Amino acid sequence: MKITLLGTGSPMPDPHRAGPSTLVQAGNQNIVVDCGRGCVMRIVGAGLMPPMVTAVVLTHLHSDHISDLNDIVTTKWIMSPVYTPLVIIGPVGTKRIVDGLLMMLGPDEGYRLDHHRDLREGPGLVLDVREVSPGDSVQLGDVTLEVHRTDHRPVSPTVGYRMTHEGKVAALAGDTIPCPELDVLVRDADVYVQTVLREDLVRTLAAFVPPLEERFTDILDYHSTVQQAGQTAARNGVKKLMLTHYVPTMQPGSEDEWRALAAEHFSGEIILGPDLTSLEV
Ligand SMILES: [Zn+2]
Repeated sequence: MKITLLGTGSPMPDPHRAGPSTLVQAGNQNIVVDCGRGCVMRIVGAGLMPPMVTAVVLTHLHSDHISDLNDIVTTKWIMSPVYTPLVIIGPVGTKRIVDGLLMMLGPDEGYRLDHHRDLREGPGLVLDVREVSPGDSVQLGDVTLEVHRTDHRPVSPTVGYRMTHEGKVAALAGDTIPCPELDVLVRDADVYVQTVLREDLVRTLAAFVPPLEERFTDILDYHSTVQQAGQTAARNGVKKLMLTHYVPTMQPGSEDEWRALAAEHFSGEIILGPDLTSLEV
């Protein structure tokens, strides 16, 4: 199982970090978990072309986690010699998002069908959309996905995915604060991927921009801090902890400072870094 951080950014634009997105490769599956800004460029950077993406899996419907879904949908369709419908899995609400997306892409779909005979002879721009709920289990090839509830309130529903392949477990939590369901999701995982923020830096930054101070500090109550990610990992016997979605952006040279905050609580390996940082378990 190979885990690659496609995008380690957040809603705040950063020229060097794509939006939240993580690639899980196992068996014959290339699963993209969330698809933030620029993730298609990073998919190519990771050595894949869009037709090789077998599924997109969404943890929740916040814009920074879905903003490049249209690009994956389009490029997979138009670049596939023989198109197989892209699987899109997400919490309740995903179908509404995809319906809106297909409406947005309608003119483009028409142009391409008019222009390309071979696309007209294919199945068209069809997608395999599956809404899931906590407790569900989904089989993608020989990868099993268990769906678990997370806590990113007031955003709801939100879910995390526990992916199992040949005895290895990757737990992808998405945006969440620590909660009992998160403990079950990550327990004894070979790798636990958590989106994080730094409370100290968010508070410092917020104080510099008084008109936005409240909006900045609002985000503190629905994300795990770096320290909390370390605590969750330690409490649940996780083997390796992978951190992503750095809020505010992780400045070059500060990686060890971020790692140390998680290491106060977790003694296992902690992986973080630029986009395309990867790990095999
Ligand atoms: Zn979110």
